[in-house]
Amino acid sequence: MECAQALDAQDKIAHLRNEFLIPVIDGKEAIYFLGNSLGLQPKRTATSIEAVLTQWSRYGVEAFFQGAQPWLSFHDNLVQQLSLIVGALPQEVVVMNQLTVNLHLMLASFYQPTGTKTKILCEAKAFPSDQYMLETHLRHRGLDPDSQLIEVAPRAGESCIRQEDILQAIEQHKNELALVLWGGVNYYTGQVFDIEAITAAAHASGILAGFDLAHAAGNVPLQLHDWNVDFACWCNYKYLNAGPGAVGAAFIHERFHNDAHLPRLAGWWGYKKDTRFQMQKGFVPVASAEGWALSTPSPILFAALKASLELFEQAGMEQIRQKGAQLTDFLFFVLDGVLKKFETPPFVLLTPRNRGEHGCQVSILFAEKGKAVFENVAANHVFADWREPNVIRIAPVPLYNTFEDVWRFGNIIETALLNSLHQH
Ligand SMILES: *Cc1c(COP(=O)(O)O)cnc(C)c1O
Repeated sequence: MECAQALDAQDKIAHLRNEFLIPVIDGKEAIYFLGNSLGLQPKRTATSIEAVLTQWSRYGVEAFFQGAQPWLSFHDNLVQQLSLIVGALPQEVVVMNQLTVNLHLMLASFYQPTGTKTKILCEAKAFPSDQYMLETHLRHRGLDPDSQLIEVAPRAGESCIRQEDILQAIEQHKNELALVLWGGVNYYTGQVFDIEAITAAAHASGILAGFDLAHAAGNVPLQLHDWNVDFACWCNYKYLNAGPGAVGAAFIHERFHNDAHLPRLAGWWGYKKDTRFQMQKGFVPVASAEGWALSTPSPILFAALKASLELFEQAGMEQIRQKGAQLTDFLFFVLDGVLKKFETPPFVLLTPRNRGEHGCQVSILFAEKGKAVFENVAANHVFADWREPNVIRIAPVPLYNTFEDVWRFGNIIETALLNSLHQH
């Protein structure tokens, strides 16, 4: 406990916890380890949204042009900050819609089956929404998902997908593939993938590479521009704390911004800005990622994202990552301590331990009675996530979790294990 408190005392961004509303149970702050599912609410979110409502009440539709933050330029402000988090140029980021919608839109532009190169390479057991998206997108194009999707799975008896197997699959299928669509961080195991290497391997065979960064954005280091990624999409409600149903975002590499031949599904909000409101026939896109926007954005949702991005800016991505890595290392240390108390290990970690191969999330696979342990942990005011058949996922998040949270979790899980193993 002293050890955890000493680490908290040295934590340079510890003050940011006070910027968040931590759920309270029985008068005590809970241990919230679900920032990978829905990030906590910043205290300033309400103020930020309130400002939009006030501006609306004062100016009506003129609020697009007037007030402290005219809604028409709100987007510029957001992409400045978001681009630092994902390693992009500001003009390569567009804040719009939500994640699954954006994946469909990106595939409309970047999945162009031609000749023998028609297939998509993806992770086996990707997040369900991504699977449904791929399946229905292919059907929509008149293609058969069963023959057009190539999935790469972990080897028998392993939980993570080997990097060499991904590169091997690209090489093996290079003449059939039009696109590699991969995750940044696997939602189930917490495994971080080598986006740069996957992109390079795809490009070497004339295949485009796109990424779903739902569990990566705001969590792990990203350099989308330098890594030459073609496109990426993410949601802003997990590590980015923009609230339930937050507006999503997409990255489109600048080399595509002036490509007039790319097919796309467009709307007026992607139309060239200086003549947009002349409402003329014939779509002319903005020459940036914003050229993929379709509809009038919600300044209310923008305001919620802005509130959280201000905190990322205050802390700086570098410090956030450093603390994130320390928190997870400390969690590994605490869990190792728990394991030492048992003769047969009651759990193993699905998440790779090497730095660079995991972000905040750690997935714990129980040998037995995982559900009983989970219920016991939850009853002790820990917000964790249960996945069938026997997995608890937890994510200590650097912006608001403490080393003491991790330490207390260690004690709680140890007691929970002892209790559940003694029940028959
Ligand atoms: C959270 C998550 C989603 C959710 O998609 P929405 O369209 O935002 O509901 C999709 N894919 C992955 C990989 C996720 O982790």
